[in-house]
Amino acid sequence: MQGLAHLHLPIFQGRYKETDMSTTGEKPGKGTYTCTKCGEKVTLDDHGDTLPPCPRCHGTDYRP
Ligand SMILES: [Zn+2]
Repeated sequence: MQGLAHLHLPIFQGRYKETDMSTTGEKPGKGTYTCTKCGEKVTLDDHGDTLPPCPRCHGTDYRP
């Protein structure tokens, strides 16, 4: 019984996170951001707005 200990994440996930993901507390600018956990959409309508925790699941990672 072996093999389950080695789960390889696709390399692109790490790069994607650094470039396109936004996290609670950041100010990514105007736009709609989608929670990566539950798909809830959060809209920032001001350039200086800070991303809040997801209102549905309290997740902190968003994608544009
Ligand atoms: Zn969420």
